[in-house]
Amino acid sequence: MDDCLFCKIIAGDIPSTKVYEDDDVFAFRDINPQAPVHILVVPKEHICCAQAVNESNSACVARCFEAIAKIARAEGLDNGYRVVNNCGADGGQTVMHLHFHLLGGMKFSDKMI
Ligand code: 5GP
Ligand code: ZN
Repeated sequence: MDDCLFCKIIAGDIPSTKVYEDDDVFAFRDINPQAPVHILVVPKEHICCAQAVNESNSACVARCFEAIAKIARAEGLDNGYRVVNNCGADGGQTVMHLHFHLLGGMKFSDKMI
């Protein structure tokens, strides 16, 4: 996608602090961290949002969660962490390329669910 911020970051056209990469997944530190560890875990395939996940592209979601487990281990998040996906306008999504926020390094007390 030519006009997608995260596609440009994955391509290296926009700099980021990369923490993990494999064939299917790219992960980098959020520019505006909301926790001591705040990493964005992104499928390399451009999928706009969780609502666009289907049976032909859902394998990359599994790859993202495999990456999350590895990254959490590497970041020392042995006591747990939170994974967040915002979907669409009502979900508060601002970058329309599917991504998972990996948040850790603190105890989250605010619980919506
Ligand atoms: P969303 O609101 O779509 O769930 O999450 C988008 C995230 O991307 C936000 O947490 C925001 O701080 C982060 N972000 C936006 N632009 C950039 C950027 O250029 N570089 C990095 N590393 N993060 C970004
Ligand atoms: Zn994209």
